[in-house]
Amino acid sequence: MKVLQGIPASGGIAIGSVSKQELELQEKIPHYTVPDAQKELERLQQACGKAREFLEDFYLRSLKLVEEKNSMIFQIHIAMLEDEEYLGEIQTEIANNHTNAEYAVYLAAKKFYGLFSSLDDAYMRARCMDVVDVSNQLLYCLDPLLNAALKPLRSGAVVAVSDLMPSHVVQADRRHTLAFLSRTGTKDSHASILLRDAGIPAVVGLGDEFLKIENGIPVIVDGFTGDVILEPEEDVCAEYWEKLQDSRINSGKGYGFGKGPTLTKDGKRVLVCANISNPSDVDAVLRSGADGIGLFRTEYLYMSSNTEPSEEQQFQAYRSVLEKMKDQRVIVRTLDLGEEPVRPYFNMEPGTNPAMGYRAIRFSLDRSDLFLTQLRALLRASVYGKLAIMFPIVTSPEEIIRARQFVERAREELVEKGVPVADKIEMGVLIETPAAAIVSDLLAPYVDFFSIGTNDLTQYILAADRKNPYISHIYNPRHPAVLRMIKITVENAHRAGIWTAVCGESASDPILTSFYLSIGVEQLSVAPSAVWKLRHTIRSSSAQDTDGLVENFLSGKNELF
Ligand code: PEP
Ligand code: MG
Repeated sequence: MKVLQGIPASGGIAIGSVSKQELELQEKIPHYTVPDAQKELERLQQACGKAREFLEDFYLRSLKLVEEKNSMIFQIHIAMLEDEEYLGEIQTEIANNHTNAEYAVYLAAKKFYGLFSSLDDAYMRARCMDVVDVSNQLLYCLDPLLNAALKPLRSGAVVAVSDLMPSHVVQADRRHTLAFLSRTGTKDSHASILLRDAGIPAVVGLGDEFLKIENGIPVIVDGFTGDVILEPEEDVCAEYWEKLQDSRINSGKGYGFGKGPTLTKDGKRVLVCANISNPSDVDAVLRSGADGIGLFRTEYLYMSSNTEPSEEQQFQAYRSVLEKMKDQRVIVRTLDLGEEPVRPYFNMEPGTNPAMGYRAIRFSLDRSDLFLTQLRALLRASVYGKLAIMFPIVTSPEEIIRARQFVERAREELVEKGVPVADKIEMGVLIETPAAAIVSDLLAPYVDFFSIGTNDLTQYILAADRKNPYISHIYNPRHPAVLRMIKITVENAHRAGIWTAVCGESASDPILTSFYLSIGVEQLSVAPSAVWKLRHTIRSSSAQDTDGLVENFLSGKNELF
């Protein structure tokens, strides 16, 4: 038994076996020459047919569980299975060298894995996982015993990947994925946020310890503490089974935990909302008893497909969320592909510093075709619920004015065609740049609300990349510099008569709850799994600034700074 320590990125406990998504263990793939190459090619063909059946079945089963877009990965895998280059490579190896089919698959997988993983484009680089997936299926169909060497994702998988990307999470088969482990990564990377939204436990940033994780071994993942226990002993297993039951019971208790309004000790109503990244996260939001959706990140729509999502596809996604949330507000953030490399169909490079680059509202305002498509989809969906639209990475009033002009243009286009659009749609700004916080008095007249995005705000104020584990001690949302900016923003909002929310990850930090309440924040929005705990914290906190609490936070006079 070995215990590794990583960064707890998404709470929860998982007990399963490791599915290391890397090509390895060459010696475990049998290598021999076959006397009859033609026969071996027929064997390969049969295995391809079987693998295809598997993948089609995965696709159909997945359609019942997740969005069609997330199921499309299986169709892509089927297409790869028939890809001339990939299959041709395997067939040529068998025909020319009389290599057994398993080893020929392995060689082709290795070649294409190497090819993809050496590409500059991170999106294309991520495709090497698809090569591994498809090759695993094929190997499994040639010889089921081979799954110890290169394991297809089966039930009980704890997926271990070196660099965890948001696209891994989006494409993960949630029926089989118990947890994620990764060598790199931080708590506030987008991949970690997606995992929390989806309620999948994860430990990231394991560093070189990651190398000790072998494919197929039993593992326990504790997403609360960051412990990863390899080959656990029996009594440890028993202990964790109990913890697992407890955490299920706890979250069961949490479902709808004291549903109804959340009031502070001194009687102030605070809205507790949930963040989502995918329409399929809504069920967890409904179970949590949240007061609405405080942040719907729409990037997943663009990440889980190889082509730009159409207006109709987006409309269906927004509509399904709005319908399910009924009269509760759903704040949809317009596209912000920040961390995830810009998709090839945008035909542009992410730049040397994507966090400060061509992203979010900057990109949308430039790409009117793309922006209008998203806005039309949103406006069409607006009649199915209570929609609010929020713009990311804003730095000046001009950006809001221009964004609102686009909204009006989209509205006119729809109204002209007789398509119904809600009369009143609230518009807000995600306050996540220091500029926006400082000039929030100038921004407030143009919007109905501010939602403070503490993830980016913290990284820009402290010049500390939220994804860099070496400076995670500097990246601190409790830093007085960050808290002062937040206070300025909330004061400016209230002066202008608009409401405020916090939707960055620090909204779930129980230490900061009383600070946010005392400065008058009206809404906090957190991962669905954190809703019940936050409601509990608010109910035992006061909205009054007692004992100079705010001053203590602002001057760093607490144990946390
Ligand atoms: C934020 O920056 O705090 C935020 C909510 O947006 P994201 O985490 O998606 O960058
Ligand atoms: Mg942000």
